[in-house]
Amino acid sequence: MSDETLSAEEQQVAEPWRATVLTLYPDMFPGPLGTSLAGRGLENGLWSLENLHIRDFAEGKHRNVDDTPAGGGAGMVLRPDVLAKAIDSATGEGDDRPRILLSPRGVPLTQEKVRELKDAGGAILVCGRFEGVDQRVIEGRNLQEISIGDYILSGGELGAMVLIDAVVRLLPGVMGKIASGEDESFESGLLEYPHYTRPTVWEGREIPEVLASGHHGKIAEWRHEQAIELTKERRLDLYNLWKNENG
Ligand code: SAH
Repeated sequence: MSDETLSAEEQQVAEPWRATVLTLYPDMFPGPLGTSLAGRGLENGLWSLENLHIRDFAEGKHRNVDDTPAGGGAGMVLRPDVLAKAIDSATGEGDDRPRILLSPRGVPLTQEKVRELKDAGGAILVCGRFEGVDQRVIEGRNLQEISIGDYILSGGELGAMVLIDAVVRLLPGVMGKIASGEDESFESGLLEYPHYTRPTVWEGREIPEVLASGHHGKIAEWRHEQAIELTKERRLDLYNLWKNENG
């Protein structure tokens, strides 16, 4: 079958979303990404994962990847020359995947960003360690810094896993029902409504009556109201953004 006869969705299946991870701890991968939805997607070729060991690009007997901070201070800094070699080796001819450095100083990873990365067809993910990486390689290799939250991890690997997990579950064929990805927290700008399942009465608590009504319109309306209330209560920042656009 030629490319032209494939739908956009099928083409995406034919060309897996491609992650290349640069790390000092390649044994950490695929780790949790090898199980459940992401793992099945990986096995089925819906996405691919390549690990590069940063140390393989270091020279000398000791293969040093880090050194003391210029200007003094605690800890060690990843060397720009070693990292640049690893990044260059990961970047093939015409490879325009975004090059990302996981970093607490980066722009926050949001669902919008996740979708953007999904559409980019893949990513090169650099995992920092120690105090971080030399600023010159961030500039010289045009690394986009992304943070997974306002706290400090000991390395970028868990951040890379979070990012990859969030992306690959959106790929066609990874989640059973594509629709289930579209109704969730953040996709509408609101947090998700509460869920219920059997038993109908549990420890004296009943399922909200409307959910047993079978009236789809009323159910949708109730869920929407719940989502608004919950967002207002828990995340006024998101609520205000949503209100500006939908109020
Ligand atoms: N000295 C740095 C923290 C270094 S933590 C600072 O104060 O900003 C070591 C590495 O862990 C970082 O280089 C980065 O790759 C990763 N990391 C730590 N926290 C992170 C976060 N919130 N999001 C993404 N990556 C993070």
